[in-house]
Amino acid sequence: MQSFSQRLRWQLSQLLSGELTRTELLWLLSPHLHLALLARRRATMIVNRVRLVALMFALLTPLWSLIDYMVFPFPLWFGLAAMRLTASAAFACLVVFYRPNGELFDTYRSLALLFAIPSVFYVASYTLLSHYQLSGVSAAIGAGYAFLPFVLLAGMAIFPLTLLENLVIASPILVAQAVAGSLRWASLDWPSFAGAFWLLLLITSVATMAGMSQLAFMIALVRQAIRDPLTGVFSRRSAEEMLELQFTLSTRSQGPMSLVFIDLDHFKDINDRFGHDAGDTVLKNMSVAVGGNLRQGDVLARWGGEEFLLIMPHTSQDQAVAAMQRMLALGFGMRPDGAPLTASMGLAERGADQCADWRMLVELADSRMYQAKSGGRNRMVTSEGEVCAPRP
Ligand code: GH3
Ligand code: MG
Ligand code: MG
Repeated sequence: MQSFSQRLRWQLSQLLSGELTRTELLWLLSPHLHLALLARRRATMIVNRVRLVALMFALLTPLWSLIDYMVFPFPLWFGLAAMRLTASAAFACLVVFYRPNGELFDTYRSLALLFAIPSVFYVASYTLLSHYQLSGVSAAIGAGYAFLPFVLLAGMAIFPLTLLENLVIASPILVAQAVAGSLRWASLDWPSFAGAFWLLLLITSVATMAGMSQLAFMIALVRQAIRDPLTGVFSRRSAEEMLELQFTLSTRSQGPMSLVFIDLDHFKDINDRFGHDAGDTVLKNMSVAVGGNLRQGDVLARWGGEEFLLIMPHTSQDQAVAAMQRMLALGFGMRPDGAPLTASMGLAERGADQCADWRMLVELADSRMYQAKSGGRNRMVTSEGEVCAPRP
């Protein structure tokens, strides 16, 4: 049994080999573990696509009134045209009044509206059409209105959604379809109803897979954009984005936020004596060593060369000092000659240092790092003085 499930998992991972890591595969299932940067970019992308689709529907929906006018009798085509214009206006509002702001909740609301408008239109038009006995061409055009749920479900393929989100969107449409069928129980043409329902399920599966593979592609792209290729820690660009976000959140909540500027000591000497590749290996090992000692929520980023930033949201100066004392004691890895690698650091805290923006916070931490260098290296400088590495 064990080996069967192992083989199954292996087979599945082969299907996606090289594209995503194990953690990233879980991100395809549900959004709750997504990194903030991925969540924001995805939210922006979804809202922009919602607006694009809404624009398309705002333009196309009223156009069909021409066909309705040609094939349907008077009050019917007029009623349908009024519904189409209302739906078109609702779509236009979605385009005009919705702007991406990176918030997942607003993203879900825009998706809900995008799917709600045609659903209401579908129910209203279907009810109106059921009052008429149509035949010939008008019956065929009337039957076309029943295709709307198929279009809605196929439309999910446009969005980079997780499995859970796809299911949440698809289930009301599927349930409504099933309920509508059971309400017409007596007169229902069962084979054609079952055939249509099966088709809806197939379209849902394909659209879900399309959406999830878009998400997989997006995860891989975001990873490349936000990670430093040598060390695997966050890149400077994503650090700037996170600083911006965390600084705003911290200012809004008046909560603490600490920042440590880390510069490796005598790093040029490693390159000069052991070569650039050895220097690269030291950088990689250092990232693993420091990364392994971080708490959940802390972010390590490569600011440039042998300089790193440690962003510590919700962390007071005292807590940051305690964390960095542990870091100084554990060390930053080894130099190629076996000696311990050391670093000079500067700590700044948003509240204690009264920083107005994140750039000030970085500048302050940077200047304190230089004080640590001139004070003898292998230490950290804070607003309250020096924290030295414990003697071995
Ligand atoms: P200090 O203790 O004063 O910080 O001295 P240092 O030698 O660490 O500082 P300095 O700024 O003089 O030198 C930094 C060196 O880091 C110079 C540069 O060649 C090296 N470096 C920058 N990026 C990389 C990299 O990606 N790989 C390697 N191997 N070396 C790098
Ligand atoms: Mg430097
Ligand atoms: Mg240095």
